[in-house]
Amino acid sequence: MDERADCIFCRIADGKIKSNIIYQDDELLAFPDISPLAPTHILIIPRKHIASVAEMPAKDASIIGDMAKLAKQIATNNGIAEKGFRLVINNGPEGGQGVAHLHMHLLGGRQLGSKLG
Ligand code: AMP
Ligand code: ZN
Repeated sequence: MDERADCIFCRIADGKIKSNIIYQDDELLAFPDISPLAPTHILIIPRKHIASVAEMPAKDASIIGDMAKLAKQIATNNGIAEKGFRLVINNGPEGGQGVAHLHMHLLGGRQLGSKLG
């Protein structure tokens, strides 16, 4: 199986599927969620194909810190850093993960509900 060819977020990272990429560097990309759940709903992903937090090699764990750092920057740029925002990483079927490529949701721009689960 060609992992990158079969993964929608790898295809976005590789420029094979068009997305309105708002940030990219050697390690990370950020683009709007196609089905936004809030006025600001951005996905932050690593270029590297990592299926999930559960499948993330320990040596790659710092990527999540870098993703959070970028989320903070994007929240600031969108004017929601002070009002508040939510970062979510779903993991596996019962965690509600639909795309098997590590991604962090940045949600904000409205009062988010208190119900998490
Ligand atoms: P999750 O359910 O945590 O795996 O989140 C996957 C997210 O990816 C969902 O919120 C989808 O709306 C979003 N999504 C799926 N395909 C695309 C795409 N081509 N571009 C942007 N977002 C997408
Ligand atoms: Zn992938």
